[in-house]
Amino acid sequence: MSILIDLRSVIDEGVGASLTVKGTTANTGAEDSGLTQFKLGTIDFCCTTPANYELNFINAGECVQASGKVHVDLSTACVRCLKDFDFSLDAQLEETFFFTACEDEHGEPYPVIDESLKVDIEPLLHEALLVEAPFAPIHDSDCQGLCIKCGTDLNEGDCGCGDEPDANHPFAALKDLV
Ligand SMILES: [Zn+2]
Ligand SMILES: [Zn+2]
Repeated sequence: MSILIDLRSVIDEGVGASLTVKGTTANTGAEDSGLTQFKLGTIDFCCTTPANYELNFINAGECVQASGKVHVDLSTACVRCLKDFDFSLDAQLEETFFFTACEDEHGEPYPVIDESLKVDIEPLLHEALLVEAPFAPIHDSDCQGLCIKCGTDLNEGDCGCGDEPDANHPFAALKDLV
């Protein structure tokens, strides 16, 4: 699913010309797009609203520089208690589009503006969400997680087995990971 932005006006007007684009992604749900759902490591994130974005493009002569932000509401599972919860994500993004193929200092190619003078910002938005999404989402910083012995959600009450921690339990080490 591409989100094409036509840069013809900002290119025709010459160096210094700028263009601001605001939009909302089509959230079809069925499409396998990085803006409807994505994975970070083993964590699944599901976008519960379409993403809102605002991007500014500036003609810098040999390239067009883009900067802006994206906002989306997401749903994921808490790594401690495993319950689904919703949260909002705001991410900043920056990209440079060149007219000819070239690479950054890490050898990564910059996106190229082809003859259509249109660029796809979908990968940018997706990348920005990946950068900002939490590696270990927690539904509340006070989340007590699950009892490693009986699996009781400790947010809903004490199960009683926590009084005497069993360090030999196969899941005991998991407690330190989250
Ligand atoms: Zn939790
Ligand atoms: Zn328990």
